[in-house]
Amino acid sequence: MRIDFEELKISGKLPSPPGVGMAILRLTQKEDYCIAEIAEAIQADPALAGRVIKLANSSKAATVNPIVSIEEAVKRLGVRTLKAIALGFSLISSYREGVCTAFDFEMFWSESLARAVGAQAVANHQQFADPAEAYCCGLLAGVGRLALAWVYPDEYAAILDKNPDLGDLDTRLRAESEAFGLTNADVSEFMLADWGFPAEHVGAIGDFCRGREDESEMTPARRGLVSALSLGQAIADLCVQDGEASDAWARLIAAADGIGVDAEGIRSLASDVASSWADWGAVLSLPTRSLPVFSPSSTAKAEGATSGDRATSEDAAITQATAREKCRVLAVDDERLSLKLIRHHLEKAGHEVLVASSGDQALEIAMQEDPPIIVTDWRMPGMDGLDLVRMLRRYERGRATYIILLTGSDDEEQVVEAFDAGIDDYVTKPFNPRVLLARVGAGERVAHLQEQVAEDKRTQQRQMKELAILNRKLKKASITDALTGLPNRRYAMERMQEAWSGRERLPKPMALVMIDIDHFKQVNDQFGHAAGDAVLQKVAEVFREQVRNDESICRIGGEEFLVILPQATLEDAAKCAERIRTAVASAKIDAEGFRGRVTVSLGVASSEQTDQGVEHLLNLSDAAVYRAKAEGRNRVVLADTPVHT
Ligand code: GH3
Ligand code: MG
Ligand code: MG
Repeated sequence: MRIDFEELKISGKLPSPPGVGMAILRLTQKEDYCIAEIAEAIQADPALAGRVIKLANSSKAATVNPIVSIEEAVKRLGVRTLKAIALGFSLISSYREGVCTAFDFEMFWSESLARAVGAQAVANHQQFADPAEAYCCGLLAGVGRLALAWVYPDEYAAILDKNPDLGDLDTRLRAESEAFGLTNADVSEFMLADWGFPAEHVGAIGDFCRGREDESEMTPARRGLVSALSLGQAIADLCVQDGEASDAWARLIAAADGIGVDAEGIRSLASDVASSWADWGAVLSLPTRSLPVFSPSSTAKAEGATSGDRATSEDAAITQATAREKCRVLAVDDERLSLKLIRHHLEKAGHEVLVASSGDQALEIAMQEDPPIIVTDWRMPGMDGLDLVRMLRRYERGRATYIILLTGSDDEEQVVEAFDAGIDDYVTKPFNPRVLLARVGAGERVAHLQEQVAEDKRTQQRQMKELAILNRKLKKASITDALTGLPNRRYAMERMQEAWSGRERLPKPMALVMIDIDHFKQVNDQFGHAAGDAVLQKVAEVFREQVRNDESICRIGGEEFLVILPQATLEDAAKCAERIRTAVASAKIDAEGFRGRVTVSLGVASSEQTDQGVEHLLNLSDAAVYRAKAEGRNRVVLADTPVHT
C-alpha cells in the first residue's frame, strides 16, 4: 500500500482538532488576528483555559510572578505556542480511543505527555530551547503514529502484531515503510506543516522521529530542540516502563551524559518530571504511575535484572492490591464475642471496621459514616437486622449500601423475607470466615461500581454545564465584533431581517443609516495599525452614545458601521444620522499616538423607499454613502427613491 497525503487529507480521515482547537487554528491562520480574539476563543473552553494557564505558570519566570488571566498567559506563551497547545489538548480529548485495539491510545497520550514534560524540563535546565515550545513539540511529536493507527487500524495492528519490539526506532520505521511506503515521521511532518507549525519545529520533530540527533547541517536551535525531545523521550520511556527499569535508567543516564548532565543530575530531573507528569495526567485524565526506583547498580547495564528493583516493584504491587481491597465495613451484632470475631477477620483482611452492638446504634453510625458495606446479625433485641435494613432503604444514602445479613438458618421462607426487606446477600451463622470475606469482597465490587456510576454521572453533569456555558459564549462571540464589542455583520443581517418582517405591524417604517469613516486609510498609514484600531474603538463609543435603546449600531466592515432603526421614517433617520455626524466630528481622539479628529460620511434609506427587501434597502443606503463621499465627505445624504417603471 502507498499512502498519498493529499488524498488522505481530502478524505477527511486524518485526526483533526475539534471545536476550540480548530477555531484557534483557523484564527491564527488569518494574517490579521489579534491576541484578544485568541484569548476569547480559549476562554470559551474553561478546561482549555485552565490548562493554558497551568502551562504558562510552569516556566521558571512564573514562580516569581504567577499568571492568573488568559490574556497574560497568551502574552507570555506567545501565539505560536498557544496554537500548538490548544491543538494538542483538543486532540487528546477526542482521540482517546480508536478502532485499532492493538494500539493503546491512552498509553500513547500518557507517553506523549511524559515526553512533553520531559522535553520541557530539559529545555528549562539546559536553556537550549524554549521550554513551552519544547513541551508542545514533545506532546505532538508522535502524531504521525496516532494518525496511522487511526486511519489504518487493521494494517497498523498487523504491524504491531508482527513486531513485538516496536519500541525500537529502526524496527518501527522499517515496518511502517514496508507497509505504507512511508513512516510515522513523514506523516507527523506532513500534518504539522499542514497545521501551520513553524518549519523549524516540523524539521526538529522529523529528525527526532527518525533518530537523527546531532547532524552538522542542523541549526543550533533545531539541534537544541531535537536534543530536548530525545532526552524527554528517554525520561518518558522510564516513566511508562513496565517492570524491569534498569535498562531504561541506563539509557537515560547515557543520553544525559551526552549533553553533560551527570547521573545524579538526571536522576533528580527525572523525578521532577515524574511528579509534574502525574500532575498533568490528573489535569488531562490520563493514566500515570510513579517512577521506577533508581538503583545505582542499574548504571551497569551488563548486570541485567537487579533483585533490588524487582523486590520493590513487588512490594508496591502488594501494597497497591491491599489498598484497593481495603474498604470500610460496619459490623453489627449484639453478642460481644461474635462481633469481636467478625471484626477480627475483617481487619485481618485489611478492611477498616466500624462496630455497633445494636440496631439503633448501627443506624446512627450508618447515617453518619456512610459505610459502603454493612454486615449485620438478624436476631437482636430492639431494632433487629431486618428492621435496620428496612430503615436504611428508606433513605437515599442507605439505598446504595451493600448489606450482608448473618442468619441462623438457611430456611427458605426466612431467606425470602430477608431479601424482601432489602438485603443484598446473606451468610449463615456460625460463619466460615473465608465465605464471609468472599461475600464482603463481592459487596465491595458492587459498591465500587456504584461509586463509579455516581462519579460518571457527576462528570457528565459537569460536562453538560461546561458545554452550556461554552455554547452561550460561542453564540455571543459569533455575533460580537472582537475589536469594538459592537454587534457584528452577522447580527446586523439578522436584526435587519427581523425589523423588515415587523415593519408592517408597527406604526412606522424601518430605516438604515450606513456610516463610513473618512480617509481612514491615512490614519493607518500615518500612525500605524494599532492607532487605527484604537480610533475605531473610540468612534464606536461615540456611536454607542448616540443611538437609542431600540436602535442597533453594528460594525459591518473594517471602518463601516450600520444603525438599524426598526421604527423610523426617512426624516427621523436623517436626524439620527446628523446627530452622529456632529458628535463624531466634535470628538477629540487621543489614542496610541493618534491625536485629532475624524469625520464620517453617512447614507440614509428607509423602507418607505423600497418594497424589495433588506438587501435593496442596504444598497440604497450604500449608494447614499457613496454620494456623500463624492460630495466632499463629513455629510449626511438621503437615498434617492428609485423610480418604478
Ligand atoms: P474614504 O474616505 O473614501 O472612505 O477613505 P478610506 O481611506 O476610509 O477608505 P478605504 O475603504 O479605502 O480604506 C479603509 C481602510 O480601513 C483600509 C484598511 O486598512 C482600514 N481598516 C479596515 N479594517 C481595519 C481594522 O480593523 N483596523 C485598522 N487599523 N484598519 C482597518
Ligand atoms: Mg470603507
Ligand atoms: Mg472610509
